[in-house]
Amino acid sequence: MSDTVFLTGASGFIAKHIIVELLNAGYQVRGSVRSLKRSDEVRAAVSPLLESVEGLDERLTFVALDLGKDDGWDGVMDGCSALLHTASPFPLQQPKSDDEIIKPAVEGTLRALKAAQAAGIKRVVLTSSAVAVMYGDLPAGKAMYDEDDWSEDFHPTQNPYGRSKTRAERAAWDFVASDAPNMRLTTINPVLVTGPALDGNYGTSLQVIERIYSGKDPMQPRFGIPVVDVRDVAAMHVKALSTPESEGMRILATEGFLWMADMARLIKDAHPNQGIKDRVAPDFLIKLMGLFDQDVRTIIPQLGQPKRVSNARAKEVFGMTFIPAAESILASAETIAANS
Ligand code: NDP
Repeated sequence: MSDTVFLTGASGFIAKHIIVELLNAGYQVRGSVRSLKRSDEVRAAVSPLLESVEGLDERLTFVALDLGKDDGWDGVMDGCSALLHTASPFPLQQPKSDDEIIKPAVEGTLRALKAAQAAGIKRVVLTSSAVAVMYGDLPAGKAMYDEDDWSEDFHPTQNPYGRSKTRAERAAWDFVASDAPNMRLTTINPVLVTGPALDGNYGTSLQVIERIYSGKDPMQPRFGIPVVDVRDVAAMHVKALSTPESEGMRILATEGFLWMADMARLIKDAHPNQGIKDRVAPDFLIKLMGLFDQDVRTIIPQLGQPKRVSNARAKEVFGMTFIPAAESILASAETIAANS
């Protein structure tokens, strides 16, 4: 009988790729979803990429859990050998109040860790984020952010989602240090995750690419973001399970930084009929637009500032060779084209 991995947030964009990696590596998966009605959707999304679909109903099972509620957590991880905790609120727009997002992120993480502890699970991989690393000033003398850096709660570039991820990750490390010294935690901290979605439910992650693809913006802001492919992020979660060296580590997942105009140019070349504009907008215009558009408002403090993030640890510990950012962006655009 193979090891069963408990995966929270099994309906997510990243989680579906993790399920593929886990099943193809021979693990069984018990996934949590908020509604069991999503089970068939997840099975259908992952099936085409599986080496075998034999016995899939037994190899991939589902339970219903909500990060914000106590119901259902008792005994839910019994018999599992590891926990991959990916679930976290990832809203399309920043919420009005921090509580809407921070409470489920932090309390949900603690619910998951306590359930794992009660089931005797010692190995935990948490999907944190680069937003728990890079929303602070880069320390003097450093050219890029790395795993030693922590985001500040109220830095000008910070937002409620970033605070929710930073606090949830801190809560996990604190829980392990104070309550579960035998638990071996690794956090995977991805930058913007792009690449192919396994179905049309790809949520917030591809929003930036979707916006460029729509051609609705007359110019692109002087804003950029580091990018990593979803297939690499999924692979890192599964590699962590068989890489003891990664225990106790935060590990950033990033391939490289791209300006939005560069992303637009790539997508425009591949989809010339979409009316995509790749001209760079003057900052004052973006600031003006920010008065009316909340999405635009959130990027204003970062205009013209490249965020460089190191992938040295991921390469060293997991031997990662990352899918090029440009290839990943184009794969996202293909997904969006196929679903529009
Ligand atoms: P998705 O929105 O696709 O996945 C989020 C998952 O969390 C979904 O399964 C969602 O369930 C679940 N979830 C959200 N709120 C709750 C809740 N209250 N109770 C139970 N489950 C909940 O996003 P991604 O796949 O992109 O994100 C997965 C993880 O990766 C998240 O932790 C995210 O913060 C992190 N991450 C993502 C990045 C990205 O660019 N995509 C970058 C860095 C980190 P449901 O389907 O029911 O909504």
